[in-house]
Amino acid sequence: MADIKSALSHLECSKTGATYDPFKPMTLSSAGAPLLARYDISKAKRTLTRNALTHRRTDMWRYTEMMPINNLPGLHTLGEGGTPLRKAPRFKDPYGLSSLFIKDESVNPTGSFKARGLSAAVNAALERGIDTFAIPSAGNAGGALAAYAALSGTRAHIFMPADTPSAFIQECRSAGADVVLVDGLISDCGDKLHHLNSSGEWFNVSTLKEPYRIEGKKTMGYELFEQLDGVLPDVIIYPTGGGTGLIGMWKAFNEMEELGWIGSERPRMVSVQASGCAPIVRAWQHGQSKAEYWQNAKTSASGLRVPAAIGDFIILDILKKSNGCAIAVSDEEMIHYSNEMAHLTGIFPAPEGGATLATLHSMLDKGLVKREETIVLFNTGSGYKYLEAFSNSGKKHLAN
Ligand SMILES: *Cc1c(COP(=O)(O)O)cnc(C)c1O
Repeated sequence: MADIKSALSHLECSKTGATYDPFKPMTLSSAGAPLLARYDISKAKRTLTRNALTHRRTDMWRYTEMMPINNLPGLHTLGEGGTPLRKAPRFKDPYGLSSLFIKDESVNPTGSFKARGLSAAVNAALERGIDTFAIPSAGNAGGALAAYAALSGTRAHIFMPADTPSAFIQECRSAGADVVLVDGLISDCGDKLHHLNSSGEWFNVSTLKEPYRIEGKKTMGYELFEQLDGVLPDVIIYPTGGGTGLIGMWKAFNEMEELGWIGSERPRMVSVQASGCAPIVRAWQHGQSKAEYWQNAKTSASGLRVPAAIGDFIILDILKKSNGCAIAVSDEEMIHYSNEMAHLTGIFPAPEGGATLATLHSMLDKGLVKREETIVLFNTGSGYKYLEAFSNSGKKHLAN
């Protein structure tokens, strides 16, 4: 493992294809679009084989060649990634779902899959000489940044909506981050950050505004392939805010095809949003290739309270190419199905995780999925930070 190196070769603009140096701190391309990391696949292929993986570390850094870090021994890690893909046998009867799985991201450090993205972003930035970070966050991203900043002894400035549930704020403060509460939504937090950071002294690790959070999240795609013994599922149901995970997994599938692990087959990708904040669903329904800003975004699933996603055009393209779809569910449904997931699997999910089960039910009703297909629901976080959401709307549904 010691002699295995990253095969990172360049950064590429997701709009124009222009290339950039990956060893400098980078944000957006000059066209204002997200930058994607590209690797020297023929180099990676020499050491990254399915067989070689059986002898490696079990966290997300096992895909070393396809990760943007050179200094592996100096890595700041809390063991992110390598989460279980749990079979959900109690959905066979009464629902007839014979191959339903839950990718349980709640067991990541800081209780959500944000740990993958922020670990990758912080470690890559440290290698590129950065020591001060900033982020607008509706919840879990702030906690994850705070943790990796604490671990590496660097500074984090976190901008959160003032009505963010206390657990999210407390975990940032406990880890020593500077938390600024903003009256408004995550987009207003982004504006405030931008305003206070006019000198550009803080490195902004907002979703897709730097190139490497997506590299952390893409590892979920590699893990699914390994955990399903070398095949991809038929359907992936994913709660979508900024879309980093969806874009990341799609990128992983393309990389795996280049590595010769899979062919051109892909899962149907399904984006789930909250009916109180569903810009991607609205754009999908109208056949648009970009999403408009969602006014008055409201949902207790903080990871879904994202009124505008900078990667909207990429998400919509993936839904189309994969033959997938986008579906909105209400907060009541999310809590109801979070409780059902807990009840039938023992996993206490974030409302975002419950939203994927709600979506599965609605897809079954509409005939959009067959009961015997291999279906993966993403439980992206733990329910523990969302107790207010459960106690506010859970009572009506306790009978279930
Ligand atoms: C951030 C977040 C999401 C949305 O993730 P994206 O990849 O940005 O779309 C979903 N669920 C939870 C729990 C989150 O924290």
